Amino acid sequence: MPSFWHIILRRLLLVNFVCGSLFWLVGWYAQRWYTDEVAQAELQRLEGVATALRVPLTLLDHEDSMEQMRWLEDAVRGTDIRVTLVARDGEVYSESEALADAMENHQRRAELVEASRLGTGTSRRVSATLGIPMQYLAVTVQRDGRDWGYLRVSVPLRVQEQRVARFCRRYFILALSLMALASLSSWWGLRQTVVPLRKISLAMHDMAAGKSVDDVDIPWRAELGQLGLAFNRMREKQQSRESHTRHTVDRMSTVLAGMIEGVIAVDPNERILFANRAAGRLLGFVSETAHGKGLLEVARNHMLREAVRVALNSQSQRDHEPQNFEIVAGSKRDRTVSINVACLPGTPSPGVVLVFHDITELRRLEYLRQEFVANVSHELKTPLSAIKAYAETLRSGAVDDPSVNRQFLANIETQSDRLHELIQDMLQLARIESGEQAFDITSIDIGQAVEDCVARYREHAASRSIELAIEADQPELKVRADDEGLRQILDNLVDNAVKYTPMGGRVELSWVAEQGFAVIRVADNGIGISKPDQLRVFERFFRVDKARSRELGSTGLGLAIVKHLAQSFGGSVALASKLREGSEFLVRLPLA
Ligand code: ADP
Repeated sequence: MPSFWHIILRRLLLVNFVCGSLFWLVGWYAQRWYTDEVAQAELQRLEGVATALRVPLTLLDHEDSMEQMRWLEDAVRGTDIRVTLVARDGEVYSESEALADAMENHQRRAELVEASRLGTGTSRRVSATLGIPMQYLAVTVQRDGRDWGYLRVSVPLRVQEQRVARFCRRYFILALSLMALASLSSWWGLRQTVVPLRKISLAMHDMAAGKSVDDVDIPWRAELGQLGLAFNRMREKQQSRESHTRHTVDRMSTVLAGMIEGVIAVDPNERILFANRAAGRLLGFVSETAHGKGLLEVARNHMLREAVRVALNSQSQRDHEPQNFEIVAGSKRDRTVSINVACLPGTPSPGVVLVFHDITELRRLEYLRQEFVANVSHELKTPLSAIKAYAETLRSGAVDDPSVNRQFLANIETQSDRLHELIQDMLQLARIESGEQAFDITSIDIGQAVEDCVARYREHAASRSIELAIEADQPELKVRADDEGLRQILDNLVDNAVKYTPMGGRVELSWVAEQGFAVIRVADNGIGISKPDQLRVFERFFRVDKARSRELGSTGLGLAIVKHLAQSFGGSVALASKLREGSEFLVRLPLA
């Protein structure tokens, strides 16, 4: 934008050029006119003088040139007029400014030549006698009815020139003053317009640059005042609209940032317009730096890109209805994500909004439910099939065979017990998990609980030549737990330890206090559990060696019950084991 002084300078140059040209033209004509006027006036003056001198001159003694000369000198004394009397043959009789004898013959002087023809003659030229430019007027003089000579009056042109020069000087000063006045008023007028416009223009620039702008102060001045008021109103409206938009955007950003669902908006070229943190977390990218980058470059997921393409291509037919896709995402491809893809309104659509829901847990639970149903069916089917087989065998005649009938009935009983035990375990687990199980949380002495448990299993362990030991010198610790629940935890762990430790092995129980918790340790030197299986032993129905475990009468629910009981008491359970070396189960329970 040109500066104020730039505009002013240009305007002053223009004004001065126009005025200067005008004044020069007018001045030129005025000078010519004035020069003519002055010359005319001088001639009239000379004519007046000549007319006044003409008659008395005829009365003078024409023989006495000295008298003539004196008379002429007296006649023009005190004026700038010069008088010359010239005979018809050009000889100078007398002269008011010079000696007539010294002057040359004037017959060929232009004014005299003209006067001889017309009676009056004029000329302007440099005087041969005085050597200065002069205005001459000559008239014929008659005496006794005959042409006698010429009376010539003249005046130096210097006087006229001085008057014209004075006129020009005054005109020049006037023109200069008028030009200065024009410049001044032009400057003032322009300033009145440019300064407010400049204020508004600067404020608009600031507004466009996103700066905060104050009201522009424009004194009331017709349209400009109105413009200033209009601008201030517009600025106010714009700022309130801006702050409203900012608030809305902030609110939306807070909502979007706080959403558990991921949200990404992309343009038709699949460049990211917006991505919230949840989307970054789900797809494994930093949402703050994703703006403007390509979707594939950021998320590295072809399924996602395909979903966007499908949505963009089908926008016309589906009329912006959101479409649903399911993709595998995450840096380890371990998340299942459901995406709702909706095209932004407009034709063609300016982009696509994707909303991501992490349904990994949902899918896992679905899988667990299916697996649970399959496991339960399988677990129930085995003893039921056995019972059915024994019953059929008995019905088809074995019932009368005393060598097997009792055995078969005993087997049916065993399988029924197993079924019963299985259903009991399942019910208990369901109750613990659903929180239905009512626990009576009290302070329980660990030493006492462990001793009771060892007493219950001593005989069973001895039958398998397994040493069941309590590590001596244990501190007296009390935990907050349900008596029956703690008994079940210890029983399940000791039962497993005895079950999965070969004859002659050793099972050891001990406990210590650790950061507000009691850690009860049940360790054996049995068959141990491999690393991958260690991660799964706490799952329902998981058994390392299904056939062997079933033989040992296990349900695969024991450790799941231990885990859920410990968690219900505010604790946890952990396992450390080495295949063929033994296992160590650590139950952490809060100290009483
Ligand atoms: P089960 O009723 O089969 O014992 P659990 O849930 O108690 O069911 O145990 C699950 C599986 O963990 C068992 O089938 C067994 O394979 C393994 N397991 C549990 N305790 C031990 C242990 N002390 N030593 C070796 N393996 C064990």
